[in-house]
Amino acid sequence: MSTDENTSPMARVLQAAAFAAERHSNQRRKGKQAAPYINHPIGVASCLADAGVEDPDILAAALLHDTVEDTDTSLEELEQLFGARVAGIVAEVTDDKSLPKAERKRLQILTASKKSIEAKQVKLADKICNL
Ligand code: ZN
Repeated sequence: MSTDENTSPMARVLQAAAFAAERHSNQRRKGKQAAPYINHPIGVASCLADAGVEDPDILAAALLHDTVEDTDTSLEELEQLFGARVAGIVAEVTDDKSLPKAERKRLQILTASKKSIEAKQVKLADKICNL
């Protein structure tokens, strides 16, 4: 699987969904239903689309937003497959898991105002659609 300028925006978004589904395939959501993990990124992307977001890079980044934090996917891999802009948005919403949880939360608050509008949209949808 690879994407280039000739790939339609719709195809790139769906490739991001397929890639995320594959990477999260062994993970389950917390909670009594233990739903497949992929339900979450699809929900976040769908939340953004419902809110009127049409930018395929943002929707792809929403689908991929937990792949670096929660699977063995690297940012380099995302950049290769989906481009620097998508990888950049994912990088901005990825927490450094080597840090303790309280420190990660503190950094999230400290850096929130400096993030790009694209990253803010994904992060907000991540929070709202997690409720
Ligand atoms: Zn998430």
